[in-house]
Amino acid sequence: MSPSPTILDGKALAGRIQQQVAENVRQILQRTNVRPCLVAVLVGEDPASAKYVQRKVKLCEELGLRSRMIKFPVATTTTQLVAKLNELSADPAVHGILLQHPVPAQIDEREAFEAIGPGKDVDGVTFTSFARMYFGLAGFGSCTPAGIMRLLEEYRVPIRGSHAVVIGRSAILGKPMAGMLLAADATVTVCHSKTRDLAGLVRQADIVIAAVGKPHFVKGDWIKPGAVVVDAGFNPGPRGNVGDVDFDAAAQKAGMITPVPGGVGPMTLAILMDQTVRAAAEQLKVELPTQAD
Ligand code: NAP
Repeated sequence: MSPSPTILDGKALAGRIQQQVAENVRQILQRTNVRPCLVAVLVGEDPASAKYVQRKVKLCEELGLRSRMIKFPVATTTTQLVAKLNELSADPAVHGILLQHPVPAQIDEREAFEAIGPGKDVDGVTFTSFARMYFGLAGFGSCTPAGIMRLLEEYRVPIRGSHAVVIGRSAILGKPMAGMLLAADATVTVCHSKTRDLAGLVRQADIVIAAVGKPHFVKGDWIKPGAVVVDAGFNPGPRGNVGDVDFDAAAQKAGMITPVPGGVGPMTLAILMDQTVRAAAEQLKVELPTQAD
């Protein structure tokens, strides 16, 4: 039991990664006269998605990358979107492509993702990127789970042989998270809405990853004393955004825990920037340090 757990400070680590990203941008610019460029594609008018994309574009500018947002109307077809993604994939001035999801229901999201050239898939959404994540090979990770892995590494959380329980199995979070933990030699249990005795499974976890999308869903008495608790949840509420974990109660039991905000969220953005600059370096044949922190 740990009355005051270590706070996994994603904001601070993200800040350090961003400094290194800015330095890497300067190096690439100096050697090639090219600024790494991220293009974000947004379909429809969802205000939350528009806000997320604007934040990404703004951060690119702050770190010295070029960035562009391409907006499509809500009635866009899969064919139209795929044509643009193919065009961007073939454009040597574009180094990273991000398709903001979710896309409107009439679009075949998978077909659209697969139109992103794997070398520019800086958001880690293509089948190629997924396969590489699962096999523990170098490549672009899904940004949120890749950010969580980086945070766990930073705080030297022992992963090999530990029991990790991932709550959620979405394509952008739970599934790639499980794959990355497995590739790092954890024993992984993946839970979802049909899981029986969720609390009992979480009680066995050395590492808990909450990726459910329900405010304060994970209760304090589910947490094994000393466990590492990572909250990927980001749920808008009347008093600001809250996580998927009941932080105050879980912090009574956890050995380490992420805050919301300031934990996983900033890491997601930092990894996107890092992966974009790495994509640019690879395309421009510039060698960078192996890890940006
Ligand atoms: P999602 O696509 O809605 O997936 C939620 C998952 O939770 C599903 O796999 C679902 O199971 C599972 N689930 C729902 N109710 C459950 C229950 N009662 N018991 C167990 N599992 C349950 O959500 P997501 O996109 O993965 O996002 C999850 C959370 O992370 C959200 O709060 C989101 O805002 C946040 N997020 C944060 C970042 C960041 O940068 N910080 C990035 C992405 C997402 P089924 O598969 O059976 O339906």
